[in-house]
Amino acid sequence: MTDATDTKRGVLIVDDDPILSAIAQVFFQKRGWGEVHTASNGRKALDFMDGHTGAIDFILCDLNMPEMDGIEFLRHLKERAYLGAIAILSGERDVVVKTAGSLAASHNLNIVGALKKPLKIVDLETIVGQLGTDTTRTMDDAPILLTVNDLRIALASGHIIPHYQPKVSTVDGAPVGVEALARWQHPGFGLVGPVSFIPMAEQNGLIEELTEVMISAALHDMQAMRRRGIDIKMSVNLSAASLSRLEFPDELAWLLDAADLQCGDLVLEVTESNLVQKTATSTEVLARLCMMGFGISIDDFGTGYSNMEQLREFPFTELKVDQSFIREASHDQFAQASVEASIKLGKQLDLRIVAEGVENSTDWDYVCQAGVDEVQGFYIAKPMPMDELVPWLDNRAASRLRVV
Ligand code: C2E
Ligand code: CA
Ligand code: CA
Repeated sequence: MTDATDTKRGVLIVDDDPILSAIAQVFFQKRGWGEVHTASNGRKALDFMDGHTGAIDFILCDLNMPEMDGIEFLRHLKERAYLGAIAILSGERDVVVKTAGSLAASHNLNIVGALKKPLKIVDLETIVGQLGTDTTRTMDDAPILLTVNDLRIALASGHIIPHYQPKVSTVDGAPVGVEALARWQHPGFGLVGPVSFIPMAEQNGLIEELTEVMISAALHDMQAMRRRGIDIKMSVNLSAASLSRLEFPDELAWLLDAADLQCGDLVLEVTESNLVQKTATSTEVLARLCMMGFGISIDDFGTGYSNMEQLREFPFTELKVDQSFIREASHDQFAQASVEASIKLGKQLDLRIVAEGVENSTDWDYVCQAGVDEVQGFYIAKPMPMDELVPWLDNRAASRLRVV
């Protein structure tokens, strides 16, 4: 019998196998799901979702598909802050399915299970049975509560602020830099993290303004640190939009000049996925930023598909191994192999290697022996506001002096 709530529930089956899709489609129709959609790869699924106004409560997603595979599709779901349930379906080896699952979990996606092909109805039944009627995960800072207009006002009124997370050297533990991470100081919800509003800013033409607000605040705070004799680098996150404007390098150089800082003081973090979608403009923008002396870091390395040739094209200065691999590496062979391959590649290209997501002493010991140069993670410090950062840095310097 059809549950009244089921008539409204939507499912999207993303698989290039038409027979499997048809079987799964019948499965959901028989159980009274309101809308059952299929797409033969990740790209088609995204196109469908972007043009669809109804709810998609559950996505059943294959990993190996032409055009856009499941791993890339999951990353796009993260960027769209998708909150519904997802089950991975795959004929790949267990280790691949497991890694895809942990990658998706690190993207904060709501993964409810992994099914192996050939699909067994009883397994699908178990997963769907556990869903309950409300598949949408609630989060303390759920993006649905935040509107684009609120974000516009927040940007204009100084409510988007940086918190800073230190990076330290593996040689002596000394702080070498900080990364500026956006926070929304919301009058009603308190401090809201960036996963709840960066995708909204990107999709609604506000990301450039957000980048500018963050860079201006970071440069201002950096000047204050310089006045106190603190000489460390500042990292900021760029989005694809900055790389699509030819004026961006000159504007940035002007901001640094006005703040009496050098281009080399700033490290621009660009995610590996943004680099892969390169155009003639983004190539030119990156090349000019490099020539001007800005540090350029490849962020979330390992989650995209860049290869040696693509990386060789630019004089990057830094490679940040994605935290999903670092967290797994001390106990998972596949993650360990990924970390070691990334480090080897980075060293060949003469890049500084940064490990992020180092949460405990086991992770620290592992990354130090693996040859990482700098570490960022909760084991060292969580992101903090400027008024806590300065005492933290002073304290760290004092405790190191005592050790020496
Ligand atoms: P990201 O650039 O990879 O930044 C690192 C994220 O990992 C931060 O999350 C940081 O708090 C978190 N993190 C660091 N160490 C650990 C650890 O040991 N364990 C765990 N579990 N997490 C750790 P946050 O601040 O929530 O930022 C999330 C993402 O939002 C950033 O990932 C970045 O992609 C984006 N973002 C943040 N600020 C900006 C911004 O100003 N502009 C743009 N375009 N994106 C931003
Ligand atoms: Ca980053
Ligand atoms: Ca990262």
